[in-house]
Amino acid sequence: MPRMIFMNDSLVPEHEAKVSVFDHGLLYGDGVFEGLRSYGGRVFRLDAHLDRLYASGRAICLAIPLAKPAMAKAVVDTLAANNLADGYVRLVVTRGAGSLGLDPNKTSHPQVIVIADTISLYPREYYERGLRIVTAATQRTQSAALSPRIKSLNYLNNIMAKLEGLQAGCIEALMLNHKGEVAECTGDNVFAVRQGRLVTPPPDAGILEGITRAAVMELAAAAGIDCREMALVRHDLYTADECFLTGTAAEVIPVVEIDGRVIGSGVPGPVTKRLTDDFHALVRQTGADR
Ligand code: PMP
Repeated sequence: MPRMIFMNDSLVPEHEAKVSVFDHGLLYGDGVFEGLRSYGGRVFRLDAHLDRLYASGRAICLAIPLAKPAMAKAVVDTLAANNLADGYVRLVVTRGAGSLGLDPNKTSHPQVIVIADTISLYPREYYERGLRIVTAATQRTQSAALSPRIKSLNYLNNIMAKLEGLQAGCIEALMLNHKGEVAECTGDNVFAVRQGRLVTPPPDAGILEGITRAAVMELAAAAGIDCREMALVRHDLYTADECFLTGTAAEVIPVVEIDGRVIGSGVPGPVTKRLTDDFHALVRQTGADR
């Protein structure tokens, strides 16, 4: 049974799911995307992911050809067609095929692609012992150049930083903004625990406003843990009691070393563990309030 891909308006076998070599998504990274998770047959925060996708589309003047309810159905149908109750969904909308010039007006129809796959988290040992990360020299793009709030197909900024992390033997890398403040990691948001309080960079630090980040902030509020969005510099992380990252694929993952500095006691801390447990409970919750 071949993997089924949703292409534009229907599910087709993988070998039939093709885009043009003239697609501006391929030629210029002109398009938007989302990564979603399904737990026990239910997509986690589907509406929030769709809202972010359509906002990204709006920001680049890309009119997504499907209405949100039809897109939601495409996500659910693609998971079902591939028998995935616990899976990862990649939703891609490209600008479509056009001429070799940049002009987005000279393209035909945006292409909608929904791919469902099994999920591969970071190796388990990292969740148990924590990640070592380094700061990349590559800065997060300034909003005036390209807003990090747009989840676009142009991820080279993040890939450049990821390469630096990998070259240093780390699977994630911290990115700073042009002011030298902490922004986020290449594919995850960052949190620190300082004096019992949770802190995380605000959207204007130059971050993607993560859906896992928002969920963790809600969980912290429910647990009576004070959480503040505030500008942070590396010193704040180096001297934190705990640090962790959040992302759809990663969920909540502890960080125990940054740039050779051991964070806190060098093992995942109690606030990180509590929020990890609460996050796992949240994604498995069956009510509409999750
Ligand atoms: N920052 C970046 C740059 C990302 O690509 C992601 C993953 N989508 C995140 C943060 C985390 O966002 P989310 O929790 O919505 O997956």
